[in-house]
Amino acid sequence: MFDEKSLKELAAIEAEGPVLSIYLDVDPTQQQNTDRYKLRLREMLKEVADEGNPEDLEAVKRYVDLEYDWSGRGLVIFSRQAEDIWRVYSLAVPVRSGVTVSRKPYISPLVEIDGLYGRYVVSLVDRQGGRFFLFQMGELTDQEGTVGEDIHRTRKGGGSSVVGMRGGAPASGRREAELVQRNLKDTAQALVSFCRKHKPHRLLVAGAEHVLPKFQEVLPNPLTEILVDSFVANMDASDVEIREKSFEILHELADQRHQHVVEAVQTAASKGQNGVLGLDETLSVAYNGRVQVLVVERDYHQPGYRCQGCGYLTTQELDSCVFCGGEFEEIPDAVEAVVTQTVDKGGGVEVVDNEMMPEGACIGALLRY
Ligand SMILES: [Zn+2]
Repeated sequence: MFDEKSLKELAAIEAEGPVLSIYLDVDPTQQQNTDRYKLRLREMLKEVADEGNPEDLEAVKRYVDLEYDWSGRGLVIFSRQAEDIWRVYSLAVPVRSGVTVSRKPYISPLVEIDGLYGRYVVSLVDRQGGRFFLFQMGELTDQEGTVGEDIHRTRKGGGSSVVGMRGGAPASGRREAELVQRNLKDTAQALVSFCRKHKPHRLLVAGAEHVLPKFQEVLPNPLTEILVDSFVANMDASDVEIREKSFEILHELADQRHQHVVEAVQTAASKGQNGVLGLDETLSVAYNGRVQVLVVERDYHQPGYRCQGCGYLTTQELDSCVFCGGEFEEIPDAVEAVVTQTVDKGGGVEVVDNEMMPEGACIGALLRY
């Protein structure tokens, strides 16, 4: 199971030699058979036949041929057999196929998927109870239900006949409203326990249109802070319906968030306060661990240099590191390196669409201080 802990672990890997990173789109909804995916994999492995270690190429090929169960929609593998590095992740969401050979695992696509889906909870509620769904990287990994008192049975259980009920309508209506309120509160409490156990980053609430605002009213504080949106759904909606609808909403939210963060970087950078634009500036603030949110366009790559002593990244060819006096090595992608460095130092990363950043800058950051 992939989670953000795995992301930090991957970012911290520092190999002595080349790590093979494989992303393979195996989306069954694309109507392609496994032979085509295997063919695509062989083509990718051929592309890196010179740089990659034969042991790693062979290990990946063997895994896909013999062990992989073809579940999920995206397969991600990192391999460096010589140093016992072997990580396989089968994802419930599609990935773009690609191969990279580098000293560190290539994690940008995973960072993007984590930013989009991450770990979130959908709470489907009605007047009686709730169904809670935990999704991690788009995969349903846990669910729970809670059922309160049956509203209809209680109403009838008062001993009144239908005629009698008409007479007592206001009282029983109030009684019903109280019961619904109590059920909603109990459901909210059960949701608190579910979220305490799983620590989601986001919460979506779903249910009948008239129940949603009432439920949001009784949501306690830690949950309102992570509540991002709500949508109308039937209580008996399938897992797949809930997943697809929530994906749709998360995509929209990501678009809004990206626009917002790009504007924030631009404003901060233009004022010279807590924001930078451009690769050189970003590399130097990232080294100091000052990046709060790194913003980078999806297909932006630039070669650069990395200090072998302290990890300082730069696009300039320098004789020795200004920080530690160490020697530089040329790296194929300083952009990927700064994404990894930011994740490693605990900063956030938003991978945005190409050309979304202001002209001339395909990368930037909001700073902590
Ligand atoms: Zn250095």
